[in-house]
Amino acid sequence: LDEPDFTVLDPEDAGAAWPVPSPEDDKYSQGVLGVAAGSASFPGAAMLTAGGAVRTASGMVRYAGPAADAVRESWPEIVATGSVGDTGRVQAWAVGPGIGTGSNGREVLARVLEEARPVVADADAITLLARDAALWDARDPETPLVLTPHDGEFARLAGERPEDRVAAARETARRYGVLLLLKGNSTVVAAPDGRVLVHPSGHAWPATAGSGDVLTGMLGKLLAAGVEPLRACGCAVLVHARAAEIAATGSAEHGGRAPRVGGDEEGRAERTV
Ligand code: AMP
Ligand code: MG
Repeated sequence: LDEPDFTVLDPEDAGAAWPVPSPEDDKYSQGVLGVAAGSASFPGAAMLTAGGAVRTASGMVRYAGPAADAVRESWPEIVATGSVGDTGRVQAWAVGPGIGTGSNGREVLARVLEEARPVVADADAITLLARDAALWDARDPETPLVLTPHDGEFARLAGERPEDRVAAARETARRYGVLLLLKGNSTVVAAPDGRVLVHPSGHAWPATAGSGDVLTGMLGKLLAAGVEPLRACGCAVLVHARAAEIAATGSAEHGGRAPRVGGDEEGRAERTV
């Protein structure tokens, strides 16, 4: 039998994987993340992306975008300044959710890529990158860029939905020179050098609107803290899935089914509408 050419993550390792701050750490070593997400029409995407970073103990989150009021109201610890260029000491960027795919979104993404810091690009940022080759010119190829598509966004990048998820993620990561985090019930992370991690969820609690935005913020925090990008992706995916399970069921029993609200005797969630 051939050895598998990927590493399978164990959902049980979620707790152990996340880097714990040491007594010498300060808010800068814990990661200063810039969040460029949301728009007047989609302030929620900004709140969720920023929230993913705040709730995973970023050293500091700086917000650049038109949803500053909503972000400040949700997260008073966030420094919401004007635009991407005037956010000092930012060590990595999370960009994309809710920015739109028009000229405003494009401008935001181009400015983030010009900053030459590690970037996690999700949602509208992926759509923009898939259709606008000129955006790639703004990017320093040595600086890590993580794309976090679901299957539909992946199809925009690769021309078709993934069939063999490991092969599809690996090939697309190589082709674009990025880390490709292909989301779904089995999430696959491929590095441009061919290394691949597979996260077999075992449950589908993260499958809910806004959850991808939260993952983007969590991953951004780890990139800002200087965690090696492939490891950062693995950590974020593990803890995100576990957090979704706890939020939905009130417990971290892997595979446990006991929704907090509603649900039948077996713990299956009820459809209320
Ligand atoms: P998005 O598509 O951007 O809203 O992100 C959805 C999040 O939910 C990602 O983290 C996916 O990996 C996760 N997800 C979606 N569907 C499933 C599923 N069937 N099982 C487990 N996780 C899922
Ligand atoms: Mg999404």
